[in-house]
This record gives sequence, structure tokens and C-alpha cells, in this order.
Amino acid sequence: MFDSLSNRLGDVFGKLRGRGALTEADVRAAMREVRIALLEADVALPVVRSFVDQVTELAIGQNVLRSVTPGQQVVKIVSDALTEMLGSETAELDLNVTPPAVIMMVGLQGSGKTTTTAKIAKRLKDKERKKVLMASLDVNRPAAQEQLAVLGQQIDVATLPIIAGQQPVEIAQRAMQAAKLQGFDVLILDTAGRLHVDQQLMDEMQAVSRAANPAETLLVVDSLTGQDAVQVAQRFTDQVPLTGVVLTRMDGDARGGAALSMRAVTGKPIKFAGTGEKLDGLELFQPSRIAGRILG
Ligand code: GDP
Repeated sequence: MFDSLSNRLGDVFGKLRGRGALTEADVRAAMREVRIALLEADVALPVVRSFVDQVTELAIGQNVLRSVTPGQQVVKIVSDALTEMLGSETAELDLNVTPPAVIMMVGLQGSGKTTTTAKIAKRLKDKERKKVLMASLDVNRPAAQEQLAVLGQQIDVATLPIIAGQQPVEIAQRAMQAAKLQGFDVLILDTAGRLHVDQQLMDEMQAVSRAANPAETLLVVDSLTGQDAVQVAQRFTDQVPLTGVVLTRMDGDARGGAALSMRAVTGKPIKFAGTGEKLDGLELFQPSRIAGRILG
């Protein structure tokens, strides 16, 4: 298993107990350990670099409090900076628009987009008593639309009737019309994924986004794909106006480093963490908890 950052820094600072201020040499030695801890947690390399630079500057010259060791102080500085960068507080969905509020889900195939669509629908229905309609715009993957319909039945949430041959923008328009006419509060659009990001996918996302004018556009990312996730996030950020990120498979082995990378690359809050295959496996993202998990 991973050694905790506190233990690592304890070794670095073992001989320095009780000194006044953190010297540059102390801090640089500590930051080498921080860097390793972040890389082990699967934070993307460029993000690690810029984070370590920022924290180094912050830490040098700080007085060490009497009550703690220099190692503990550095852990606190790093963990505070990490929490702040992760967003400090939980971020709720912002659906404060004239209904139906549209949520557009984007991401690569297999990231957990369809499952997360159903999880969010269930949450809105159970916790906020919202009337939710879900529509799959995935016309590439056979049975994608049926998959969403099956999930809808499981959670008792309506899905848009399937009409074969329609294109994503047409489906989005039909879904909006249905949501308006039938008095739905929220419409969740589950867009098509791909194995890799390509321009055709991006064009499709943009066209749907223009047609549906979503209140929320959520990028769904598999937290287990730590380093790769960064490129994906970069491409989506450049081309679609994201409002937030959902990190799936946080119930797995991932240390959660992808959270820091996503936040750094997209600049958007991480709103939810997926915590299982079951449709109640969705939690509001808790920055301080993830900071602890990243540092080990
Ligand atoms: P999509 O292609 O992006 O729509 O991905 P799916 O929603 O079909 O999910 C792919 C697989 O990941 C399915 O087997 C899901 O049950 C699983 N999955 C999705 N979210 C989570 C999660 O948070 N934790 C776990 N353990 N599995 C998940």
C-alpha cells in the first residue's frame, strides 16, 4: 500500500523538530515527497508540477506553530491548498431556470454516462420531488436508447419514446418539446460517447448544446483513468461550455487524483462522485474528504 504523506514527511522532518520557520531547503525536500504522493494518487503530471510550485511558494518562510512538527505543518499547508483547489465546498446542481431545466451529460463511452444520468434523475426525483424526463441521444451504439429506457423503468422515471432513425439534435428538440408540453421540471440528455474524442463527436455536442441551451453540462469521467482523463477533459473544455464534472467509480481503487486534475483542467466544480453500479450510488462530491484520500 501507499505510505501516507504524513509518514513520509515525518521522515524528512524527523530531525528538525521545533524549529522556527520552514526554510527553503526543508520545503523543497518536503515537496519531493508531496510530488510522489500526488503522482501515486494518479494526479496528472502537469497538474502536480503547478500545484507543487504554488504550495512551495506558500510554505517557504511560514512559522512552524509550537504545537505541531514541521512535517505536520507542511501536511496541513498541502491539504488546505488541495481542498481549496478542489473547491472547498460541495457544489449542487444549478437548475434555477424556467422549466424544463436541461442537464446535458457528456463524456467518453464507458465513462458511466448513462448510469450517472439515471442516478441523477433518481436523486432529483427522490430528494427534490422533481418530475424528470430522460432522453438518450446516442444513435451510434446499438441499444443505448433501450438501455436508458430500462434504467428509467427501474427508477420509475420517464424516458422519451424511441423513434428509430432520428438524429441527436432532432431527438433533443423532440425531448424539449415533450418536457414542456408534459410539465417536466428537468430534462436530462444522455449524449453519445466515443472510445476517443473526435471532431465529429465534438460537432455533435456543440449542435446539441446550441439546440438545448442546457442549464448544466456535466462531463462524466472515470476516476480510474487518472492520467488519460486530463486529455479528455481538455478537449471537452475547449469545445463545450461545461458547468461541472462527475467522477465515476470512486468506489474502486482510485485514490481520487483525477479530481484534482479535472478541477485544474476544466476550472469547473466536481459536483458528484459515482460510488457504485447501483442507481443510488451517487454522492455530492466532498472536497475535503478527497483531499485526505489523495494525500493518503
Ligand atoms: P456509458 O457508456 O458512459 O454510458 O457508461 P455506462 O453508464 O454504461 O457504464 C459503464 C459501466 O460502468 C457499467 O457497467 C456501469 O454499471 C459501471 N459504472 C458506472 N458508474 C459507476 C460507479 O460509480 N461505480 C462502479 N463501480 N461502476 C460504475
